[in-house]
Amino acid sequence: MAKTMKAQVFYEPNNMRLEQVPVPQPADDQVLFAVKACSICGSDVAYYYGASSLETPTGKGPLILGHEFAGEVVEVGKIPAKLGLFKPGDRVVADPVQYCNACPVCKKGQPNLCEYKAVLGVSANGGFAEYCVSHYTGLHKVPDGISWEHAALTEPLADALYAVNNMQIETGDCAVVIGPGAIGLMMVQLAKAAGAGKVVLVGTRDYRLEIGKKGGADVVINTQDKKSPHYAADLKKRIGELTGGMFADAVVTPTGAVEAMEEALAISGRRSRVVFFGLPADTAVIKVPALQSILWDKTIRFSWLAPLTWPGAVKAIASGQVDLSMICTHRYPLDQLKEALADVKDRKGDPIKAVVQF
Ligand SMILES: [Zn+2]
Ligand SMILES: [Zn+2]
Repeated sequence: MAKTMKAQVFYEPNNMRLEQVPVPQPADDQVLFAVKACSICGSDVAYYYGASSLETPTGKGPLILGHEFAGEVVEVGKIPAKLGLFKPGDRVVADPVQYCNACPVCKKGQPNLCEYKAVLGVSANGGFAEYCVSHYTGLHKVPDGISWEHAALTEPLADALYAVNNMQIETGDCAVVIGPGAIGLMMVQLAKAAGAGKVVLVGTRDYRLEIGKKGGADVVINTQDKKSPHYAADLKKRIGELTGGMFADAVVTPTGAVEAMEEALAISGRRSRVVFFGLPADTAVIKVPALQSILWDKTIRFSWLAPLTWPGAVKAIASGQVDLSMICTHRYPLDQLKEALADVKDRKGDPIKAVVQF
């Protein structure tokens, strides 16, 4: 097998180079796989343009970015080989959040909160390269029927699934998703699959709302574009009309905008569940109407990463409960990663999700 590989090595903001680097060797507790698809996350754009820092000791590279990826097993370290867990040729997705499995937090069953976790593509090398190593406990097998680009989206889907599980949707509920990005569009499908009777998608761009309709949104609302046929000036009033004055049973905010989070509180009804998902600025504060929240017996909760939802996410793709074909909109080869990041940043061609294919 090859000794070197092509990789996009990120050094610091606006400095990433396509290089020929050594293929990583799997340690005893690792598996080496050939990357087949790696999708671009908003956080990759933020790292590349310097809006956020890496979780390396210096906050910079050199590091291979990319944390939403799938591939084919090439070489198996001693421990997983002895356990018989993986063999060359297996199709896998890697949970980039590689928790330690041993600290008190992991042992409480809260691996997303592990204090010792490494994150592929953020603090360790990730998927914008021909090969990558993962700790064996971070890998999940993928059935043959799932395409590589859909498999790569297991990571955001697993995050979306954890948040939708936290919405505790009951059959017939009115569930509202505020923010029609890739994850919001996945949440629409998951909320429908969870039994919501009415799924409402709220956003500011019609091209995204239309994809939400294809994915099962019963109602879409554009809160900004007055020319849109879906425009509503007063979201609370519109949700009230749609629910006969009961308002939403569950709301989720796949956006970091504090206004959206406060709007979620405003449109939520009696004994509703409000789930905050997107990452706000580190100084952001959400105002909660305290008395009204108590009097309506609401649950407000936050949702971070995807503890134990990976197997469910893989099954949701395999069974067709979630259709990712409308979410994968743009494709690039590895050597055009910089162009891809620029296109995603500038929303060139109305992208939802761009995927690097190998
Ligand atoms: Zn991501
Ligand atoms: Zn841990």
